Order: sequence, then C-alpha cells, then structure tokens
Amino acid sequence: MKQIVLPGGESVPALGLGTWCIGDERKLRGEEIATLQLALDLGLRLIDTAEMYGEGRAESLIGEALLGRRDEAFIVSKVYPHNASRRDAVAACERSLRRLRTEHIDLYLLHWRGSVPLQETLEAFLALQAAGKIRHFGVSNFDLDDMREWAALDGAAATATNQVLYNLGRRGVEWDLLPWQRARSMPLMAYSPIEQGRLLRERKLIDFAARHGFSPSQAALAWLLAQEDVIVIPKTGQRQRLRENLAAAEIQLDAAQLAELEHLYPAPRGAVPLAML
Ligand code: NDP
Repeated sequence: MKQIVLPGGESVPALGLGTWCIGDERKLRGEEIATLQLALDLGLRLIDTAEMYGEGRAESLIGEALLGRRDEAFIVSKVYPHNASRRDAVAACERSLRRLRTEHIDLYLLHWRGSVPLQETLEAFLALQAAGKIRHFGVSNFDLDDMREWAALDGAAATATNQVLYNLGRRGVEWDLLPWQRARSMPLMAYSPIEQGRLLRERKLIDFAARHGFSPSQAALAWLLAQEDVIVIPKTGQRQRLRENLAAAEIQLDAAQLAELEHLYPAPRGAVPLAML
C-alpha cells in the first residue's frame, strides 16, 4: 500500500475508509463491523469518522469493531464547529474517545469553519495533544483563505491535513488549494472520492473503466491515488466493495489513461470556490 508522509514524518496509507452513515441501520451493523475488521486485515488501517456521523453512532460502531485491535488502526475524527471552543472541544473529544473506546485519536479535525475563533480551536487542539488525547490535528472544508488564516496562527505549523471534497468531477482544489498545501508538504485528504456513488453512474466513466478492465470505482480511486500527496477515504459498509475499492491501490494508470481521464474530466481553468457535501 502506498504511504503518505504527514508533517512530522509519520506515514499513513494513501487509501483509507470513510464511515459516514455507518451504524445508522441496525440490520447493516453486522456487515459494517465485518467490513471494518476486513479493512484492518487487508492493511486499510486509516479510518475516517466524526462525532457528527449518526450523532456518535459511527464512532460507537468503530469502537465495537476495533475492540482488541485499536493499535492496528489510525483513527481520524472530527469536532463539530459549534463544539470547537477552547472548553467544548476538549469535552467533545472526550465523548468521542469514550465512543471509540480508545485513549487517543490519531488525527482530530475541525469539521468545517464555524463562528468560534480559529485561535481558540487551535489552542484546544494543542491542549488535547499535550494531554495525549490526540496525536495530530488538522482541518476540513477549508478553502485557501481559511487555510492562510489558520496557518498564520501560532502553533499551526504542525497541521497534518485539510480534508476536502475532491474527485474526478470536483477538481477545483487543483487550481490553488492543492498547490498551496503541496508547497507546505501538507497532504490533502479527499472525501467523497466517488461522489457518494454518483460518479459511478456516469456513462463516460463506466465506458473508460470497461475499456481498461477496471470497475468505475477503481478508475475513480486510482486516478486520485495517482497524485503523490493525496489520502483517499472512500466509504463502504460492504466487504465485497471494500475488496473492489482496495484493488484500486494496485492500479498504476499509465500516461495514456491519465490523458484520457483528463479529456473526460478536465482540470479547472480558473479559481473555483471550494464545494462541500
Ligand atoms: P463516497 O464517495 O466514499 O461514496 C460512498 C457511497 O458509495 C456509499 O453509498 C457506498 O455504499 C457507495 N460505494 C462505495 N464503494 C462502492 C463501490 N465499489 N461500488 C458501488 N458503490 C460503492 O462518499 P462519502 O461522502 O461517504 O465520502 C467518503 C468519506 O469521506 C465519508 O464516509 C466520510 O468519512 C468523509 N466525508 C467527510 C466530509 C467532511 O465534511 N469532512 C464530507 C463527506 C464525507 P455502501 O456503503 O453501501 O457500499
């Protein structure tokens, strides 16, 4: 599995697992737990979640699935903007830790920017880090202006990532945000990499994938994984799809295939405001 180096030197796998909506339906729980466990078995150990997902249900399901295997996983979770004050962020993190049944979160993100001053959130993250409750911190849904403001704060130098919407059909970040992060060796974490499944129904992607012997999902994920510093977190609660998605990590798109995708899904030709799902 390709690894991505975080600021500070630690490596994480370039392909992880999203968990938005897991734990929402009782009848799916068994398969979702089995999928999380299979992910660890197969080396897909970066698991992305948030206190928001099912108002804690996703974190609780992860806690159950990882019982006895916590050390194998790299857990990313996120704090709601309305919980991101100096005091509330610490309490929110402690609730997440309890649901996840762990002593620490590997990477803790501000889910999106709200009304709490960024300096306060950063101070909370630094306090949580000093207390050993989080190992790394970062942000999510930050466009370039927000990133610049955040990066100028004291203590922000170690920011591990900015998690944003990025996929074949949403390439706006390539214009300015991705180069800005690249210049600072800060990996970008791409969420909704198959646009919540909608990309897979696009005729042009279906045809491209069929021509080259991939599934549409593998084509979309392999394209993101071809970038040197992007972490990709497709969500699935099904083991068969997990295996399918994981196989994308073995695909090396050649120059002709990349050019074909470039033609089908062109790069931005100007600044595009960051989209959010
Ligand atoms: P994805 O682009 O990962 O798509 C997930 C959807 O696609 C699910 O419905 C899943 O269904 C389906 N799917 C997955 N693999 C396949 C496959 N091989 N074939 C067909 N269907 C498939 O969308 P998400 O929005 O879930 O994004 C991924 C993760 O990113 C989230 O789960 C979350 O962790 C994070 N995220 C972060 C946000 C933020 O604001 N920071 C916003 C949005 C997402 P099934 O489970 O049934 O397989």
